[in-house]
Amino acid sequence: MRTEATTLLVIGGGPGGYVAAIRAGQLGIPTVLVEGDRLGGTCLNVGCIPSKALIQAADEFERARRHAGTSPLGIRAAAPELDLPTLLDWKDGIVARLANGVAALLKKSGVEVLHGRATIVDGKTVDVVDAAGETRRVGCAHLLLATGSQPAALPGLPFGGAVVSSTEALSPPSLPRRLVVVGAGYIGLELGTVYRKLGCEVAIVEALSRVLPAYDPELTRPVASSLRRLGVDLHLSCAVEGWDGGAGVLRVKGADGVAFDLAADRVLVAVGRRPATSGFGLESLRLAMAGSAVRIDAECRTSMRDVWAIGDLTGEPMLAHRAMAQGEMVAEIIGGARRRFAPAAIPAVCYTDPEVVVAGESPDDAAARHGEITSAQFPLAANGRALTLEAADGFVRVVARRGDHRIVGWQAVGRGVAELAAAFAQSLEMGAVLEDVAHTIHAHPTLGEAVQEAALRALGRALHA
Ligand code: FAD
Ligand code: NAD
Repeated sequence: MRTEATTLLVIGGGPGGYVAAIRAGQLGIPTVLVEGDRLGGTCLNVGCIPSKALIQAADEFERARRHAGTSPLGIRAAAPELDLPTLLDWKDGIVARLANGVAALLKKSGVEVLHGRATIVDGKTVDVVDAAGETRRVGCAHLLLATGSQPAALPGLPFGGAVVSSTEALSPPSLPRRLVVVGAGYIGLELGTVYRKLGCEVAIVEALSRVLPAYDPELTRPVASSLRRLGVDLHLSCAVEGWDGGAGVLRVKGADGVAFDLAADRVLVAVGRRPATSGFGLESLRLAMAGSAVRIDAECRTSMRDVWAIGDLTGEPMLAHRAMAQGEMVAEIIGGARRRFAPAAIPAVCYTDPEVVVAGESPDDAAARHGEITSAQFPLAANGRALTLEAADGFVRVVARRGDHRIVGWQAVGRGVAELAAAFAQSLEMGAVLEDVAHTIHAHPTLGEAVQEAALRALGRALHA
């Protein structure tokens, strides 16, 4: 068996692991990164990037279809047709380009990449088996676990055949006539909307009483209305009872307790993801756990000395930008810096139509935490740019402490509002007060003006509403 030694060994080449490795390499820390599948992890290969590519394509397709009808913009076009293989090639091309970029960045930083499956021997030793079956043993001073997460399956509805996870739904061999999506969270809504816009009949079955139940009802109401407008069949407060693959029928228990059947050619199960903690010897380290995730402290240290963990493996929020920020920080700490993972906010965006973006505290959370708060929202219907984008549905909301006007949260729903996440997160991280945003000149006409107007309104002096 070949053996080697390094200072930092990273297991997992997703956004957490590859960013940690790049930063460590830049700092001159001898670093080995082990990836068992494809560099870029879930995010790049079967997550954030391919899903956003399909969302863009589905939006374009639907827009073209609207122009083929009676477009209020006066554009007359023929009904569009979809060439699915070309669409998937385009999406895969974007993924490949970014994955090549990650490989080049790792190389430039001097990181040694081992393609193979890692198995933990102990906290300082890992075996890597490559595609040819050869094993290499790597010893390390620091072990960074960044193995990510996997789709959660439902009992009675195992993945296989017509029952798919987001991974298969992102590369469909054909479009189903009737898709049933189980779970109205991020994945269910993003991909359910894609399939609907591409022409499939889509039904969504959700256990709770609202779509995107993690967000406040006012924020998600425009999303539910838009889904209904698109013709998505929403079944809320429902439980899946079983799947008859032969008949292509999903049995569902309705909110009233009465069971009914939904016919489906394909079923997308999107009921959350589980930290990837098994199958590579992690159990042998007997790390302290937080539920199904590896427990970490504010420096991303696990309960074992010099064993670190980041990203989805460490639980919610399972977001790529959180994994990247943790990875960068761990590399810096190993390099000698004093850092803590204590962001003022980790923004989250759901790429529904309209998009939802949140950063910091909701009005309810803020009231519970700070007592006296002020909250104001500005409707996009009063924003000129939103009207020219046909995006009048939605609003921007600010939440601040009443006493000192310190901003503690932002929420927005509307087409194109994802890009406001940067302004939201920056104002929170910099400790802005309402006056800072209200007195900042925002370019006209932009959606960003709604951010300024929300702050003005919270101060009781909105100009345009
Ligand atoms: P991962 O990206 O899961 O990477 C882990 C890597 O470790 C994998 O490449 C895996 O092959 C490798 N690995 C695991 N075990 C071993 C082993 N034993 N040996 C070698 N290698 C191993 N997040 C957002 O912020 N925005 C989005 O828009 C977004 N969209 C998403 C859409 C979908 C459909 C999905 C599924 C997820 C989406 N996410 C999004 C979530 C995001 O993809 C994850 O939060 C992110 O990828 C987590 O990064 P990670 O580095 O922790 O793990
Ligand atoms: P999720 O947690 O967002 O949503 C799961 C949904 O399934 C919830 O609404 C839940 O109530 C519902 N559910 C659970 N059990 C059910 C059951 N038995 N029957 C019916 N409904 C049930 O999870 P997801 O959509 O699978 O996404 C997984 C993770 O991936 C997310 O937590 C997120 O962190 C990440 N992600 C992020 C983005 C983004 O940032 N835009 C996009 C996709 C995925």
